[in-house]
Amino acid sequence: LNQLFIEALPVIRKLEAAGYEAYFVGGAVRDFLLNREIHDVDIATSATPLEIKEIFSSTVDVGIEHGTILVLYKGQSFEVTTFRSESNYVDYRRPGTVTFIRSLEEDLKRRDFTINAIALSGDGQLIDPFKGQEALESKLIQTVGNPADRFEEDALRLMRAIRFVSQLGFKVEDNTMQELFHKAPLLQHIAIERITAEMVKLLSGAYNHQALAIALKTNIYKYWPSLYHNQATIQTALTLPIQQLNEVELWVLAVYLHKSKDIKNDLSKWKLPSKKIKLITTMYHFLLWRLENDWTSYSLYSAGFKIACSVEKIFTTIHKLNDTDRRLKKLKLEYEKLKIHERSEMQVNGTELAQWLNREPGPWIKNMLEEIEQMILDSRLQNEKMEIRKWVQSCQIPSEKN
Ligand code: ATP
Ligand code: MG
Repeated sequence: LNQLFIEALPVIRKLEAAGYEAYFVGGAVRDFLLNREIHDVDIATSATPLEIKEIFSSTVDVGIEHGTILVLYKGQSFEVTTFRSESNYVDYRRPGTVTFIRSLEEDLKRRDFTINAIALSGDGQLIDPFKGQEALESKLIQTVGNPADRFEEDALRLMRAIRFVSQLGFKVEDNTMQELFHKAPLLQHIAIERITAEMVKLLSGAYNHQALAIALKTNIYKYWPSLYHNQATIQTALTLPIQQLNEVELWVLAVYLHKSKDIKNDLSKWKLPSKKIKLITTMYHFLLWRLENDWTSYSLYSAGFKIACSVEKIFTTIHKLNDTDRRLKKLKLEYEKLKIHERSEMQVNGTELAQWLNREPGPWIKNMLEEIEQMILDSRLQNEKMEIRKWVQSCQIPSEKN
């Protein structure tokens, strides 16, 4: 068993010792069977939330109304969720009522896809009533039960289907695929935040190309808020080697392909965090510059290494160049050769400028620091205090005339 399962095993054992059933479920079991890296381990149990809290001394009510308790155990935390069935789905969204039950199979039945409905016992037994392992072997995304019903219950599952395509490179089973098309309009009822959370995972997936192709074919994209809500944008993206781009880079590409007139507004419609919106916007402006120019010391310095690499990757994607690695290596060498990499490496600061020139501090300091910074980067001035001072004092007279 994987290390994460081993660390969580005592939690299962304690629940069992108290007379309850407990199993590993969900993504961790799926990823374990696929030999993929496991992140968080989820545990499902027949114990109710109150019963869970009686067994463990340290717990947090993270989603008690859905039956989820965070159990803190030996410095780790595990999500433990009571077996439940869901009913009264209201407006194609999450269930109105959650009923706690004592049967594992009923709990697996309410899960979205067969690959996500496999349980693993503490003894290493797999409980797989919906043939999830077969689906894993044939690399298929298939709903548990009738796809039309399951998508009507919770339309977010439409997005989840294609984000699993993107992460796993699986195909969508035929009936499930047909219902992706028929039920796509139900996505209107889903909160943007939930759609975006799946979109972020979709864009981050190694098979983002396949997932976007399905979004296009099934019209799912029409129920996205902006940017990728555009046939031409997706069609063009699909002609490009987008597999090499990460999520943020793909947002930048969308902004570019969409010829967005108001980037902030378009990105805000996805309710992305403002920090990410700022990063995407910055990268987009460097991309526009890069499409017209080659990197210079100053542009490389202003962008910083990470942004420059991302911009270069988007540049090669747009031009369908196949020498990304070579270009990134070259960029790294150029970056390492820069005389300075951030302002703090400059051998002068504003206070020194004011002292040397015996002038009151003011906006002139910022301008002069920028000029010195440019000269150092262009190798017109050495980044050495005495050299800088010499230059500063030599231009004192003209600058005071201004
Ligand atoms: P990830 O690796 O991204 O965490 P995951 O499969 O664990 O993928 P989660 O969103 O963490 O996905 O959900 C955990 C499990 O809960 C899923 O594997 C699935 O069994 C079930 N599940 C999650 N969302 C839904 C949903 N909308 N409808 C039905 N079952 C769901
Ligand atoms: Mg998970």
